[in-house]
Amino acid sequence: MTTFPAATITGYPRIGRDREMKKAVEAFWAGRATLAETESALAAVRAQTRERLAALGLTEPYAIPADFTGYDQVWDIASSLGIIPARFDDLRGPDGALDAAGYWTVARGVGDRPPLEMTKWFDSNYHYLVPEIGPDTPIRLVDDRVVRLATEAPGLRPVVVGPVTLALLSKAADGAPEGFTPLDRLDDIVTAYAALLRALADAGVAWVQLDEPALVADTWPRARTVEATASAYRVLGDLETRPALLVMGSYGPLGDALPPLAASRIEAIGLDLVRGGIPDDVDILTGKTVVAGVISGRNIWRADLQEAFGTLGALRARLGDDSPVAVATSTSLQHVPHDVEREDALDPELRSWLAFADQKVGEVLTLARGLAEGHGAIAGAIAESVAVRARRAAHPGVRAGEVPVVPDAFRSREPYEERVAAQEDLGLGSLPTTTIGSFPQTAEIRRARAAHRAGTMSEGDYDAAMRAEIASVVALQEQLGLDVLVHGEAERNDMVQYFAENLDGFATTGHGWVQSYGSRCTRPSVLWGAVRRRGPITVEWSRYAQSLTAKPMKGMLTGPVTILAWSFVRDDQPLAVSADQVALALREEVADLETAGIRVVQVDEPALRELLPLREEDQAEYVSWAVRAFRLATSGVRASTQVHTHLCYSEFNEIIDAIDGLDADVTSIEASRSRMEVLEPVRDHGFARGIGPGVYDIHSPRVPSVGEIEAQLRLAVAVIDPRRLWVNPDCGLKTRQYAEVTPSLENMVEAARRVRQNP
Ligand code: GLN
Ligand code: ZN
Repeated sequence: MTTFPAATITGYPRIGRDREMKKAVEAFWAGRATLAETESALAAVRAQTRERLAALGLTEPYAIPADFTGYDQVWDIASSLGIIPARFDDLRGPDGALDAAGYWTVARGVGDRPPLEMTKWFDSNYHYLVPEIGPDTPIRLVDDRVVRLATEAPGLRPVVVGPVTLALLSKAADGAPEGFTPLDRLDDIVTAYAALLRALADAGVAWVQLDEPALVADTWPRARTVEATASAYRVLGDLETRPALLVMGSYGPLGDALPPLAASRIEAIGLDLVRGGIPDDVDILTGKTVVAGVISGRNIWRADLQEAFGTLGALRARLGDDSPVAVATSTSLQHVPHDVEREDALDPELRSWLAFADQKVGEVLTLARGLAEGHGAIAGAIAESVAVRARRAAHPGVRAGEVPVVPDAFRSREPYEERVAAQEDLGLGSLPTTTIGSFPQTAEIRRARAAHRAGTMSEGDYDAAMRAEIASVVALQEQLGLDVLVHGEAERNDMVQYFAENLDGFATTGHGWVQSYGSRCTRPSVLWGAVRRRGPITVEWSRYAQSLTAKPMKGMLTGPVTILAWSFVRDDQPLAVSADQVALALREEVADLETAGIRVVQVDEPALRELLPLREEDQAEYVSWAVRAFRLATSGVRASTQVHTHLCYSEFNEIIDAIDGLDADVTSIEASRSRMEVLEPVRDHGFARGIGPGVYDIHSPRVPSVGEIEAQLRLAVAVIDPRRLWVNPDCGLKTRQYAEVTPSLENMVEAARRVRQNP
């Protein structure tokens, strides 16, 4: 058997250093490139990545992961195993496989055939495609994608989502009988993986990495997850013809899934030692290769190599000197940008604290060298990493970060009933209509923002352009007859970055792109120091908007949890502390909005569920600080000021206690795609404040009819007291066109009128 490399990474960004993957794929979708051109552009990204990783020092056989995807890693293996929804059967070739065009068609949908659903990958901001599996879905190796990519160059290690995770992340196909879960098909899935492993072995591949992050989560009934792990890896381990297997558990500790893996014949097990620490029972792994994930794939900070090297030493002591240990990242580096060296606009001191993917490769190699040659061989690098951390800790912008102790009473408002009475003069009857905040971001708005940023548009001209936009959005809402208006958020490129740019303690990068889903990327801000508001941020725009109308104008802010979730956060203090710092800055902003005459303030928390820990035992603590931070941001106002929040997903039940705890006067949520199903749990929970279930889906360009929206509203009225019911779309409108938005809102207002008139 080829030994496992001493140093590796468990995955690398797939988008290309200059987002070449995005550009190539989107050019194909837009008809600007042929399939052949696109495929060769993607092959070039893969070649560039391999060259880069080899140049950085990943030169041992099987050190470089073959984890490239043209859209998503879950969809890659699902489509390879023929797990394709029946509604797309016509796209399959004679062998049952999709070609590259079909692969993207299913991912994105076509005509009235919806794509695979998308949902977030563990507690990250990456979204994967949810495969659909029914009792009769054919599951069989139909596509040689994995083999093709693995054999593009010698000694690549294919990275494939593992069978248990694939089963758990899938959903039951439409029409599956009550009680069926995709895990019921585990045996068939494992048989298909066996065929894949045989094909890889036949192609000469010696090592394969199976990613099993689902084994660290409590999202599914635990006993069944552990049992599935045991059965899958017993079968795969016992196969006669297969490469050596690394099963990687990222995003947390494997817990009770570790013993069945240890008992199987798989050769290597990967541990997330950043999140999980060394498991108590780690000695059961003696004899297998332990792939020690000691460099975080989730943050952008240079590691403390002393601490990481200490962890490796402790691990080795537990396993015995002869038991092989390899050094690796804790997760794929897909969550971090490529290379900090490109950030020449960043403050050099801050830049010296950071490690992006390429720098993390260097850290892994350094630690592996230390493990092989002893501490002395890397003493210099260790000392430097410690010195950097010390400099960072001593930096005045970081140190100023102590949060005043805030008494809990400071985080509560008057009882809800009292607030309702004090807000009566807002004059909102039953079923008030509103929107979630943003209006279409036209090409003109984007141009103005870009010119302002580039310095080619003066402050005065930019201000005038934004005011004109606000005036037109307000006039449109007046004309449509909406009840609570918004200013439209034209000045915001992104709901988090906008605030990050206006708060001390955040920096933005020039090239720090990470994949969000498919071809889409985001550029998270870096939260590096103490958070302070330099001055009012949104107040002037909201005040101006309010001056144009007699109707209430909503002030629009992004909440503390969402700001953290969509930024790179500090690793030197608990998230709860960072959340309170952001919350205090927002609290000042809320107070200034109130002083400026804004009676309704919305604090969006679309990421509230995203940060929910994967382990049940950690969830209560998270909910507690997340709720406290929101309340800290919003509780400084008078009873007469109405606080709204917005969450955009419908798996409401999972965190309904948290949402109730936010104590907002009005909560808007996504509901239209699930036909208001979310409302029953809301009622049953006893949630007693205002609620605005989205009455139409903004993710699609379709204009909903009055009758359709009216039907949704009638469903809602049947469950929720109409005095507490609000009428709004599912989410913000920034990605839509006015040609869709205007008639949709017109129909929404008319539907509300009909239901009000004839309840
Ligand atoms: N207020 C934001 C908007 O309308 C909310 C976006 C979101 O929930 N993701 O764009
Ligand atoms: Zn939303």
